[in-house]
Amino acid sequence: MQNFTKVERLSPKKSPALERLTGFGEIYALFDGDKAASQAERCVQCGNPYCSTNGCPLHNYIPYWLKAIAEKDRRAAFRLSNENSPFPEILGRICPQDRLCEGACTLGADNFGAISVGAIETAITEGEFERGLTIDYPKTRSKKRVALIGSGPASLSAATFLARAGLATEIFEKDEKAGGLLTYGIPNFKLDKKIVDRRFGFLAKAGVKIHLGTEAGKDITFNDLLADFDAAFIGVGARRSVKAEIENESANGVIDAIDFLSAAQIELFDFAKKSPYNAKNKNVVVIGGGDTAMDCVRTALRLGAKSATCVYRRAERDMPGAKKEFINAKEEGAEFIFNLAPSKIVVKNGAAIGATFEETKITEGDGGRGKLIIVKGSERLIDADMIIMALGFAHHDKSWLNGVKLAENGAILVDEYGRTNIEKIYAGGDATRGASLAVNAAADGKKAALSIIRALLAV
Ligand SMILES: Cc1cc2nc3c(=O)[nH]c(=O)nc-3n(C[C@H](O)[C@H](O)[C@H](O)COP(=O)(O)OP(=O)(O)OC[C@H]3O[C@@H](n4cnc5c(N)ncnc54)[C@H](O)[C@@H]3O)c2cc1C
Ligand code: SF4
Repeated sequence: MQNFTKVERLSPKKSPALERLTGFGEIYALFDGDKAASQAERCVQCGNPYCSTNGCPLHNYIPYWLKAIAEKDRRAAFRLSNENSPFPEILGRICPQDRLCEGACTLGADNFGAISVGAIETAITEGEFERGLTIDYPKTRSKKRVALIGSGPASLSAATFLARAGLATEIFEKDEKAGGLLTYGIPNFKLDKKIVDRRFGFLAKAGVKIHLGTEAGKDITFNDLLADFDAAFIGVGARRSVKAEIENESANGVIDAIDFLSAAQIELFDFAKKSPYNAKNKNVVVIGGGDTAMDCVRTALRLGAKSATCVYRRAERDMPGAKKEFINAKEEGAEFIFNLAPSKIVVKNGAAIGATFEETKITEGDGGRGKLIIVKGSERLIDADMIIMALGFAHHDKSWLNGVKLAENGAILVDEYGRTNIEKIYAGGDATRGASLAVNAAADGKKAALSIIRALLAV
């Protein structure tokens, strides 16, 4: 260990940008066993490992599995990594590590280059899956039944820990496929859907029942949940697209990011289900500067857009998403315009032909990211054939949850154990915290599952 002065930090190889644009395959190669081991050997094995204590919402045992893989004890690394994290090969791919474990790594702060935690994490589990290892669960041992509403990372995580404890677990998902935003939001080039299906396959084999196309509040009521189950976890996400509240926002040719991305993914699943949003040869403008906006410009370019321009109201340094996704988007030909806020969608013959924007300035010194000020008289038009709004997500209606306390913004209120005000009902993920990250949803699902296990099995 501690080889960081001799071995430099490496990231996994990416396919060349032009090649990436020919399809929706994942762009990163996996580290092979030797590369994972030599990169892991750089780790200092810090007494207080900030990567885990400060950086990782799941507090993964990062230095332990780094040491195990560095010593070529692949099984121990796999077990340590899968013990604490419900799906390390998924989070290794999609976590914004620069803001989490790698951002907190001592070596990064000391300018030696942070340990490539995400790439090593993915390689450990994928390597063992390739060698035939799977995730083993005990048979269902308890008659106690738990319902999980939604099948995103919050519920996938909860189901993993509940199945481990041998509780009879059932997932109810309104969509045709399981996975929530792992399946219908995050594009395939960041996370191949086979990887998500594989985890649900393990759960199904463990006896977890997965009811697809089943909407709580309609096909199963809140009273059914209370009467038929010993506990329920609500992981229904936050799916209302935030609006810019500008003129003509609902015009033809203006699309919500999630509709655009989901339709592209559904077409990949089944070519007969063609996306209604044809970006081919179009000038696409994406409004917003987060990860979803990066996913949209990159998807548009793969669909043959003539140009894909991301317009963000703040500066490049304020972009809230993962740095690597911004770099990937630039490499793939996306263009960026900063410090412009949308003021109006311009419409001709009933369809959007562009949008006007006003320049912005950010005031310094008032804390946070600074206050946004619109520069008067700075309006200008940007032409577009398709405009995608990627302004974030808010809470959708959850009125079917009779009596469950919600915050003013619609978030389900939970305590530090993931419990709502109603006994037996737990919640987590975006439904409680607002649009966030898969790893936070996974941490919430785990926390609620452990509370349910304690309550039902009296451990
Ligand atoms: C485009 C996009 C890209 C993203 N990229 C990343 C990324 O790279 N890295 C990252 O960490 N995070 C990313 N995120 C955020 C991350 O996907 C979410 O924070 C995470 O999926 C939230 O998990 P969840 O389980 O709470 O909700 P969701 O994933 O939203 O899942 C909720 C599920 O509940 C179902 N549901 C809702 N209501 C009902 C009902 N009444 N009955 C039955 N089922 C119901 C929904 O159909 C859905 O399947 C991205 C988000 C988006 C939109
Ligand atoms: S902070 Fe970095 S160097 Fe320290 S234990 Fe974590 S990964 Fe290793």
